[in-house]
Amino acid sequence: MKTLLILGAGTGGTLVANKMARRLDPREWQIVVVDRDERHLYQPGYLFIPFGQLAPANVIKPKRIFLPRRAKVIFSDIEAIEPAASCVTLTGEPRVLSYHQLIVATGCEIAPEEVPGLEDAGWRKNIFDFYTLEGATALGECLRTWPGGRLVLNVAEMPIKCPIAPLEFLFLADCFFHQRGIRNKVELTLVTPLSHAFTKPKAAAILGGLLKQKGIEVVPDFALCEVDNARTTLVSYDNREVGYDLLVTIPVCKGAEVIARSGMGDELNYVETHKHTLQSKKWPNVWVIGDASDAPTAKAGSVAHFMADVLVENFVRHIRGRALEAQFDGHANCFIEAGFGKSFLIDYNYTTEPLPGRFPLPVIGPFPLLKESRLNHWCKLLFRWVYWHLLLPGRLPLPSRMSMAGKKP
Ligand SMILES: Cc1cc2nc3c(=O)[nH]c(=O)nc-3n(C[C@H](O)[C@H](O)[C@H](O)COP(=O)(O)OP(=O)(O)OC[C@H]3O[C@@H](n4cnc5c(N)ncnc54)[C@H](O)[C@@H]3O)c2cc1C
Repeated sequence: MKTLLILGAGTGGTLVANKMARRLDPREWQIVVVDRDERHLYQPGYLFIPFGQLAPANVIKPKRIFLPRRAKVIFSDIEAIEPAASCVTLTGEPRVLSYHQLIVATGCEIAPEEVPGLEDAGWRKNIFDFYTLEGATALGECLRTWPGGRLVLNVAEMPIKCPIAPLEFLFLADCFFHQRGIRNKVELTLVTPLSHAFTKPKAAAILGGLLKQKGIEVVPDFALCEVDNARTTLVSYDNREVGYDLLVTIPVCKGAEVIARSGMGDELNYVETHKHTLQSKKWPNVWVIGDASDAPTAKAGSVAHFMADVLVENFVRHIRGRALEAQFDGHANCFIEAGFGKSFLIDYNYTTEPLPGRFPLPVIGPFPLLKESRLNHWCKLLFRWVYWHLLLPGRLPLPSRMSMAGKKP
């Protein structure tokens, strides 16, 4: 009996466990999954919690029900990975797990401690994140009665998880304050290290235009040095300053601490991964899916989904002694909430930036690309159901490779 060990049972770990359970012969392979948290958290739902559009309870379900029945599931913190010895140490029981093949799916998380002052006196008083359940919930409490003032959304450093979420937050905030009847008392500002509103030029032009239309100021090229709590001011390395009454922060994002402890990551704890095959660059029996990887694409659930088929295919080729052939193209897509019941949709990969057109089929679509629509918005809301019932079980029938069908270059 051989062991496939999967570390992390979030989006990527869960869906790859389900796909592997269908592909690997149970007489030959046992599947073991380790995660420290028994709750599966639907992170895209965090965006809606601050505006009272989703309750925290709506984004939590038990992890076990999404994992394959044949998998042995262990809830424990992972202390260290020893890839040279093909084993892993846990804080719980059993202390040591050996493996033949390993899939790293430990994701990434915010590291507010990396920015001086971010977690000082103002933390969760007038400084909030919405990238954690606790942060999104606390921000929701604050926004319900916030009287208005200068709300600054700051992206501390790129890359971040879900690079579009900061813009979505601002579009929804604009709508929320309109609905509360206090939009004229609120100044909304995006302070970003990027030169534009988003990483991809065509989408940045359109989304930047929408920010302007909604009266949201953009402060570009702002490399955050510290947060001065006493003066409620952001200070950049080149000594520029931006004051705030309420700071919504997207702190530095880093791969899991266990990756650093195990000497397996780069300076941000991301595992070096062949960007097309998803095999580790250093250890042939280690594979990486989702946000844990250093693949130069978005850190998004959709990416973990598109990675899964390629990873499973190459894994099976590898254990049968065949050359790796499946190619991951960096495919990412995302519905972008624009407020007032409309959303955009973007679809792109390593080499093709988000383009206008229709998705998934030319002319009939039905989803317009890079254009606001109510249909896109309804699909974004429906996606929570799709996530629990199709994506996590590994049964969402979307091809992993991006298609140019319907796109207008
Ligand atoms: C506000 C917000 C909005 C988002 N919106 C979208 C969206 O609209 N579309 C989209 O595609 N994506 C979106 N995302 C991103 C998406 O949720 C993530 O990219 C996705 O969940 C990544 O999956 P993953 O498996 O790599 O990591 P995760 O799902 O984060 O799973 C990692 C798992 O590893 C476990 N783990 C880590 N370290 C250890 C350890 N030492 N011991 C034990 N267990 C450990 C964790 O407990 C966790 O369960 C959003 C994210 C946020 C925060």
